[in-house]
Amino acid sequence: MNLKYKVVFIISFLLISLSVGSSVMNYKKSLDETQLQLKESSMPLSIDNIYTEVQKNLIEPTLVSSMMANDTFLKDWLMNDEQDVFKISKYLEMVKNKYNMFSTFLVSDKSNNYYTSKGMLEKVKEKNANNAWYFKFKDIQDNYEINLDFNKYMGDSLIMFINYKILDDKYHYLGATGVGLKISYINEMLKHFRVKYNFNVYFVDKEGKVVLSETSVNTLKSINDKEELKALSSQILEQSSKVLEYSSENKHYILNTKYIKELHLYLIVEAQIENFTKEVEKTFIWNLITSLIITVIIIFIILITIKDYNKKLERFASYDNLTNLHNRRTFNQYFSKALKLYKRDNIKRSIIFFDIDNFKEINDSYGHLVGDIVLKRIADILKKEVRNSDSVSRWGGEEFLILLDDSDIEASFRVAEKIRVAFETDADLQDFVKGGVTASFGVTTFSDEDTMEDIISRVDVALYEAKNSGKNRVIKG
Ligand code: GH3
Ligand code: MG
Ligand code: MG
Repeated sequence: MNLKYKVVFIISFLLISLSVGSSVMNYKKSLDETQLQLKESSMPLSIDNIYTEVQKNLIEPTLVSSMMANDTFLKDWLMNDEQDVFKISKYLEMVKNKYNMFSTFLVSDKSNNYYTSKGMLEKVKEKNANNAWYFKFKDIQDNYEINLDFNKYMGDSLIMFINYKILDDKYHYLGATGVGLKISYINEMLKHFRVKYNFNVYFVDKEGKVVLSETSVNTLKSINDKEELKALSSQILEQSSKVLEYSSENKHYILNTKYIKELHLYLIVEAQIENFTKEVEKTFIWNLITSLIITVIIIFIILITIKDYNKKLERFASYDNLTNLHNRRTFNQYFSKALKLYKRDNIKRSIIFFDIDNFKEINDSYGHLVGDIVLKRIADILKKEVRNSDSVSRWGGEEFLILLDDSDIEASFRVAEKIRVAFETDADLQDFVKGGVTASFGVTTFSDEDTMEDIISRVDVALYEAKNSGKNRVIKG
C-alpha cells in the first residue's frame, strides 16, 4: 500500500478505535449507573413511599375490622339470636361514620343474614355467585383476608373488603364482619408509579397470588404463572426485603420486594431495565455517530492535505521555481516521448536551445535580483511566443530548451528568429538592462537514427557557433 494511504489507514483505525472505544466505555458506565441508581435509590424510595401510602390508607380499616370482630357487643348480639336488627345497623352505621368507611357489614353464620348500616340486606347463599366470597372466606385458615370484589349494592364498583372472622371464647366461628373501601386511590397510586417512574407495582399474598394491582394493566394472576418469577418465589416470599433480577422473553427486570407485615402481603416494585436504558442507548448511538462523523471529517481533511502537498511536491519536482517553466527532468520526459513518437509517425519535430548573452555581466552590473527578473521576463515572452503544445523548459542557469511538435528545421528557425527579435526588442527587458537583453540560439530537427544525446549535442554545437559568431543570432545544426 502507498505510504500516504498506510498513514491515513493507521490514523483512521486509531481514531475509530478511540471513538468507538470511548463511546462503548461511556455506554457501559452509564448502563451500570442507571441500574445501580434503580436498585439502590429510586426503587427502594418508591417502596418506602408506597408503603407509607398503604399504611396510611389500609392499616386503619384493617384495625377497624379487627376491632369489630373482637367487639363483645357484636359477639353477644350474634349469640343472642340476632334480636333487634336496628341495634346492629346502628352499630354498623356508627363505625362506618366514625372511621369514614365506605361500608361496614356483618354476616351471621347461624342465620346467613347479611347486615349493613341500612339493616338486613339479604341471606347469603352458597349457590349465589355474589356470595361466594363468604363461603370461601369461612373455609380459609387465616382469621382475616383482604378481598377485592364487585358489590351489586354499591354501584358495581370495585371495592376492597377487609373481612374478619368473629370467633367466640372457644374459637367457634360465629360469622364475618369488616369494612369495605373504595380502592380507586390504590389504582391511582399504582398508576402514578407506572406513569411517572415506569414501575410496575403489585401486592402478592403468601402463596404468590396477586392480590392488589393496577387493574387495567396487570395481567399477572400469580407470580407462579411466570416461570422466571416462580423460580424466585421463595426469595420474594420472604420477610426480608430483596433486590432480585430476572429475564423473561429477552427483557430484563429488577424487583424490589418488601413484606408488609400488617397486611400479610408482599409489595413488589418491578422495573423493566430496557425502559430505563433507552435514553442511555440513544446517547450511545448519538455519541457513536457524532464521533464517526468527526473521524470521517478528520480523515477527509488529512486526505485533502496530503493530496495538496503531493500536488505541490509534484509541481516542485517538475517545474522550475523561478520561471514556472518545466525543469530539465520534465523536459527529458517530454523529449524522450517525442523521440519515440517521431520514430513511429515521422512527423517533424525540432528543438531550439538558447543561452542569454552576457548574463554574467547583467548579474554583475545590476545584481542577481535583476538577473532573476530578466529570467522571469524571458520566460513570459517564451510563453507568449510559443504554441501551447510546445514544451518550453529551463535547462539550467540562463539556458532554455524548446521542443517543437510538427515543425521542421525551417519553421523552427523562424520560431527561434521570432523569439530572438522579441527579446531584443522587448521594452521591459530594455527597462531592466540598458541596451536590452539578447540571446544566442541553436536549432536542430530530429532525424531517423538520432538518440537524445545526438540531438542535444547537435543543438549545443549550433548554439556554440552562434555565440562564437557574434551572439544574438540563430544557427541551424
Ligand atoms: P555568454 O554570453 O557567453 O553566455 O556569457 P554569460 O555571461 O552569459 O556566461 P555564462 O553563460 O557562463 O554565465 C551564466 C551566468 O548566469 C552565471 C551565473 O551566475 C548566472 N546565473 C545562473 N543561474 C542564475 C539565476 O538563477 N539567477 C541569476 N541572477 N543568475 C544566474
Ligand atoms: Mg550559460
Ligand atoms: Mg550566457
